[in-house]
Amino acid sequence: MTVCEHNILTEPDTALNCEVAIVGSGPGGAVTAATLSKAGLDVLLIEEGPYLPLESCAPFSQQEMVQKYRNRGLTVAFGAPKIQYIEGRCVGGGSEVNSGLYHRTPSDVLAHWREKFQVQNLTQAELEPHYEACENAVSISYLPGKPSLASLKLQEGATQLGWQSQEVPRWFKYESNNDSSVPLKGTKQSMTKTYVPEMLRTGGKILANTKIKIIRRQGDRWILQGRYTNSSSSYQIKITAKTVFIAAGAVHTPALLRRSGITRNIGNALQMHPTVKVVAQFSEPVSSAQLDVAVHQVKEFAPQLSFGGSISSLPYLQLAMVDYPEYAQEVNQHWQNMNIYYVSLVGTGRGTVRCLPGFDDPLVRYNLPSDDLKVLASGLKNLCRLLMAAKAKALFPLVPNATRLTQLAEIDRLPQQLPSDTSLMTVHLFSSCPMGENLDLCATNSFGKVHGQENLYVADASLLCTAPGVNPQGSVMAIARRNALHFLEES
Ligand SMILES: Cc1cc2nc3c(=O)[nH]c(=O)nc-3n(C[C@H](O)[C@H](O)[C@H](O)COP(=O)(O)OP(=O)(O)OC[C@H]3O[C@@H](n4cnc5c(N)ncnc54)[C@H](O)[C@@H]3O)c2cc1C
Repeated sequence: MTVCEHNILTEPDTALNCEVAIVGSGPGGAVTAATLSKAGLDVLLIEEGPYLPLESCAPFSQQEMVQKYRNRGLTVAFGAPKIQYIEGRCVGGGSEVNSGLYHRTPSDVLAHWREKFQVQNLTQAELEPHYEACENAVSISYLPGKPSLASLKLQEGATQLGWQSQEVPRWFKYESNNDSSVPLKGTKQSMTKTYVPEMLRTGGKILANTKIKIIRRQGDRWILQGRYTNSSSSYQIKITAKTVFIAAGAVHTPALLRRSGITRNIGNALQMHPTVKVVAQFSEPVSSAQLDVAVHQVKEFAPQLSFGGSISSLPYLQLAMVDYPEYAQEVNQHWQNMNIYYVSLVGTGRGTVRCLPGFDDPLVRYNLPSDDLKVLASGLKNLCRLLMAAKAKALFPLVPNATRLTQLAEIDRLPQQLPSDTSLMTVHLFSSCPMGENLDLCATNSFGKVHGQENLYVADASLLCTAPGVNPQGSVMAIARRNALHFLEES
């Protein structure tokens, strides 16, 4: 890393001081850190995971799961059904491992947040400059060439059925080349490519490999107690800061606050987009050489249900097909003819985040009512119809006791309600510390300041009052920038 290496703290002292400490370096933390550092504040960005370049491993590889995921992706929200959730754990957080699909927050979602949660001023017009700044910083763009066949299958199936589909832009930068037959090489503009170097260039510092365990107030300062760990040493560290922003993600922000005795409306209303999946097998290869994720989404049943394509590299397909062991050989040999597709739900389920004495990880529980399981089941059937319309040769629904489907009529055999032992998963978590002036519901004010606390802010996906129904990182970044600039105006 050539950018301001002296601002990357390795073997740090056991006691550090800064004006602003930011815990967590995902999109929320990195955008906040760069915005405050650019304004001349003395910023320390603290991250539990390692500082690795985006190129340290192949995207969507097993090595990436080991290096950059929390618990290699095997984290579960307890409930019936239980829901596997995936989080990044490295500098850049989820932005380092995600698919880069970008949406702005829908207007009706913002209206709901203003009405029910009493979030002041949060309109599209207010967010416009923040969207624009973030979109420029991370190079939001449409794919310059032809999308993968796996993506076009979504479009094809939707067109056949007269349903709406759209291509979604992403945070990618493309290298130009003179040969139009060669696909342009794209690089994901994750936080380690954008906001983290910007923060370092403007004087901010980063401390990776450091988990903050607890924060406490001492006089007019916050004390952050944590542990620094690298391959050769591990020791306690104490950081003193005037102001603290917690941006540890929708599970770990409420966990840290609750461990620190700050509990009001914190970790009580976790929301997610639960997804159920189906693996589709086609007669021809559908994955591009770059293993691009599908850029098409089907919005015919939005906002309640969206359909799209998931990461479908060999390790992901092997994991997805674990309950179809008789096809393991088929997966290993013909995985490029296969792709994982999902149905994602905006439901009525809610979850909690609680800390258990003696345990490092919090207990996450999620209650998915039976109506949500019915809606997901109907979504799965419709997705299967769409994939058959796109000429899938076989479908492997990821629901208990399902069998391989090869005929349209077999889709009716799928359950009307997903059984409580279905394997659901999500990569979208939010709403565990909602923002707004409604003191019955909200953990922070309309700009992320924790109610009843001095100089303590939340700056990540936890603030989104409800599930946005679209990929959330665009909302997380724009709201983080809005709130950081508001903080600067107020201080
Ligand atoms: C596989 C995958 C694919 C996705 N695809 C998309 C997509 O295409 N489009 C989209 O919009 N969104 C996508 N997302 C979701 C998106 O990445 C998240 O919404 C976003 O990263 C949330 O940002 P955040 O800042 O709230 O938290 P995070 O990105 O989770 O960052 C939080 C950081 O805090 C660190 N941390 C936690 N606890 C502590 C502690 N105690 N001390 C120090 N550090 C701590 C964590 O290690 C982590 O790095 C995807 C996510 C995943 C995992």
